[in-house]
Amino acid sequence: MSKQSHFILTSYARLSILLGEGKTPDFTLTDIKKIHQLDIPPSFEIPSGFEGYRFHGDRERLDAIAREMAEKVREIARPRAIYTSSDVKCNGRDFVDIDGIRFESRILNKKLCNLETIYPFIATIGKELDEFKASPGEMWQSFILDSIKTMLLISAAEYVTERIQKEFNLGEVALMNPGELKDWPLAQQIPLFKLFGGEEKSIGVSVSKGGAMRPLKSRSGIVFPDDTGFVSCRFCTQENCPGRRAPYDAKLTAEFMK
Ligand code: SF4
Repeated sequence: MSKQSHFILTSYARLSILLGEGKTPDFTLTDIKKIHQLDIPPSFEIPSGFEGYRFHGDRERLDAIAREMAEKVREIARPRAIYTSSDVKCNGRDFVDIDGIRFESRILNKKLCNLETIYPFIATIGKELDEFKASPGEMWQSFILDSIKTMLLISAAEYVTERIQKEFNLGEVALMNPGELKDWPLAQQIPLFKLFGGEEKSIGVSVSKGGAMRPLKSRSGIVFPDDTGFVSCRFCTQENCPGRRAPYDAKLTAEFMK
């Protein structure tokens, strides 16, 4: 899979250039941040065994739709990601500063404040697949296609996490995504995107003022070294999430929020 790297100035450096207008820009090589771009091999299972669903028709037909959608997705899909490494600073209890950008979250503060470096990323199924829709009125095509897109996104996020883990030699890692926890809402994708200085355009992803990403099947997050077995799903009340890795733990959540 191909990988490219671009360089951007950190917010500190951009600020020092603004303040030093007309003077020699006040930044050093350490203020230049490397953004890695990664093409991800599409990985998903063909949906099968639709026993739990009411389907008035031929189950073989459903399997055929699933195979047809899977084939099309394999032709079209170009999942991609960008990632970088960022500095952490903590001066409070309910927030953390990453490359000089503030993130509001008690859990993030608790998990990141003993670290110096963390690894933000943005992953997407890609605009090619996002634009591919089921035929009008084909409910099962639409349902199966959406399931495949979701699987693809989960595997893309796992792929970039493993890449970060190996590339930076991190050992055990944990992952947090804005929007999955009440304590770290979706709008926090906006500061996370700022860490990439506009490079998200290179993988065709954008974020709205409310924090929603386009393509919809995109995910942003932070990977960080952690050997405590931390899994954000234990703090998450989203039912029926296909990516759930652990049950919700109300007691643990209350302890963290103390
Ligand atoms: S259950 Fe886990 S994977 Fe699903 S949204 Fe919640 S934290 Fe994320």
